[in-house]
Amino acid sequence: MTSRAKFWLSFLFLVLVAVVYLGASGMTWTDIQNLGTPRNALIIEGEDIRIPLPEDSDGRVLPVVEATTSGAYSFMFMDGDTPVLWDPCRPIHYVINPTGAPPGGEALIRQAIASVSEATGLSFYPEGLTSEVASFDRALIQEDVYGERFVPFIIGWSTETDLPELQGSVAGLGGSSSVPGAFGDQRFLQGGVVVLDAPDLAKMMSTEEGRALALAVIMHEIGHVVGLGHVDDALELMNPSNSNVKGWGPGDLQGLALAGAGACQGIGDPE
Ligand SMILES: [Zn+2]
Repeated sequence: MTSRAKFWLSFLFLVLVAVVYLGASGMTWTDIQNLGTPRNALIIEGEDIRIPLPEDSDGRVLPVVEATTSGAYSFMFMDGDTPVLWDPCRPIHYVINPTGAPPGGEALIRQAIASVSEATGLSFYPEGLTSEVASFDRALIQEDVYGERFVPFIIGWSTETDLPELQGSVAGLGGSSSVPGAFGDQRFLQGGVVVLDAPDLAKMMSTEEGRALALAVIMHEIGHVVGLGHVDDALELMNPSNSNVKGWGPGDLQGLALAGAGACQGIGDPE
């Protein structure tokens, strides 16, 4: 064999080793394009888990919503001066655990999601029902259940006995997690949990006016999931103790429009 042939043979061998290594290490083409910038990782139960790559996207799923009102709003997570938000270039996948739901509960959830989607310009993708128990202790990646990606947003029902945080007049809880994107410093909201107090909401839903209030409770909790925090103004739905507000207030709508206008992962600013 000539030395030239030897060179090409060993070169081919190295390439094959590299390909096998990439396969074994779970690296992907996107990792290679970002070579030199290591994929961000999360520590889950003591294990280093690489941040899942986002779904493919050609840009925003829904158009930006322009705020036409102004008032009080706040964000749950700030990264310097910038709120941490969902990536508007991918739909927010969600699952519902129907266990313990009052009659009509699921319809109310779908109505609340439609309202948040309309006010934010964020798209929600229904993945159907789940048996995962909605809990704020859930792992953000559950490969056995949902595959190699972040868990979908989950909505479920509970009671004061099972979840003491629901005691008293608390009718629901909601929030998301702030995590880094696969590459770079930008943070995004992921996961998302809403737990609703089934007996409280069932009682409300027995009258037409109460049904509107129950819907408002779910809208408030999903408001947290898309990043909104509480405000002191009692005319806003994001006030922590809802007296009789049944729809979004002017500050809520301004905050929701901003919550849907975040940056896209790997695409830059949404157009
Ligand atoms: Zn709240």
